[in-house]
Amino acid sequence: MSSTAAIDSKRTVAELKELRSLTSDENGAQRVAFTKTWLIAREWLREKVRTLPLEIHNDSAGNTWFTLAGKSNECLLIGGHMDSVPNGGWLDGSLNVLAGVEILRRINTQYNGKPPVTVRLVDWADEEGARFGKSLFGSSACSGNLNLDEARILKDKDGISLPDALHNAGIEFERVKESGGELKNAAAYLELHIEQGPVLLDLGLPLAAVLGTFGVERYAVTFHGQAAHSGSTPMDRRKDAFLAAGRMAQEIYRIAAHSGNGVCTIGSCVTRPGIVTSVVEDCRITLDQRHLDPTALGNMLSQARTASEQFAREGSVTLSWERLWHIAPRPFHNELIPLCDEAIRETCGKSHRMPSGPLHDAAEVAAAGVPTVMMFVQSLHGISHNKIEDTREDHLELAVTAFDNLAEKAIHWISR
Ligand SMILES: [Zn+2]
Repeated sequence: MSSTAAIDSKRTVAELKELRSLTSDENGAQRVAFTKTWLIAREWLREKVRTLPLEIHNDSAGNTWFTLAGKSNECLLIGGHMDSVPNGGWLDGSLNVLAGVEILRRINTQYNGKPPVTVRLVDWADEEGARFGKSLFGSSACSGNLNLDEARILKDKDGISLPDALHNAGIEFERVKESGGELKNAAAYLELHIEQGPVLLDLGLPLAAVLGTFGVERYAVTFHGQAAHSGSTPMDRRKDAFLAAGRMAQEIYRIAAHSGNGVCTIGSCVTRPGIVTSVVEDCRITLDQRHLDPTALGNMLSQARTASEQFAREGSVTLSWERLWHIAPRPFHNELIPLCDEAIRETCGKSHRMPSGPLHDAAEVAAAGVPTVMMFVQSLHGISHNKIEDTREDHLELAVTAFDNLAEKAIHWISR
């Protein structure tokens, strides 16, 4: 085994600050995909790796690939996204990419430009979906999951269609799935990300291995009762749609509590006629349920259905369910998760395993069949997609060091 070159995690923090000063204003990061600021960020990134012996190109979906050719064609992939939401934070996506840059530098030095396997960094295009409301654009084109018929008709707030916007950026919409060829020799995919939630902060831990991304079941549930005068209708004669919906609000907390780490949310409640002097005729609530385990997710959904039927019956109202959206859980790789754990423990003593509530590009790569794992670093304030998004600098440095350790382990795992 070759002698070990050192990773310079402080340089990553310095480069993140440099990127922030280049692409943020007083409201936060402005690297929205397909805008001038995003192109500036991407050009800056290319400049950062100019002295490394990399092959660099954009694929047919606009993802940028930086390839350090190795002794084997088998590839270790490291991914992130330079794009941000408008008024976003300084770390979401860019930490992943810049940690990847530092790892490329370390590997290039350690193996004299020829690592045992090929190492590729990918900057995914339009992870956030801020402009067209379709997140994971570049990675879902690459994985083959992008629904072209749905995406073709998307428009931004100015009425510009996604295909037209892509055309202006030099990307031909009908050919974006050709980017799938990039995954040909992919043997493992790694992604470092800020947690964007409060779990690690509450545990007092810097890093976690991510088990996978939650599956989501999203429904509109409507109770149909009868409008009636709020003064003349006795309480026992009412068909009150809101009464049944209100009982659901309590019930989903019970369902989530018994699900083993699942979450349920009623995010919206609309009543009709919606006036102060009438019993509610129709009440439409939205129900969003998430879990890492498909069976547990299915159980949460069937429990919610059974409860809604009971509440409807007891309240003499009727009921309809309408599926709004659905995505299956995307579990990460059962050998890479322990490897990630080990890399964390060797770096800072203690690790933790947790699922990811938000979706990430890693979920698309995993769905394409590439062994995948993510590492989370603690978020201060438990908040993201906001200019106050932040992480302690010593935690950022630990994250880069542990993630580099994982990359090295993954190289050996691939060539085992
Ligand atoms: Zn992100």
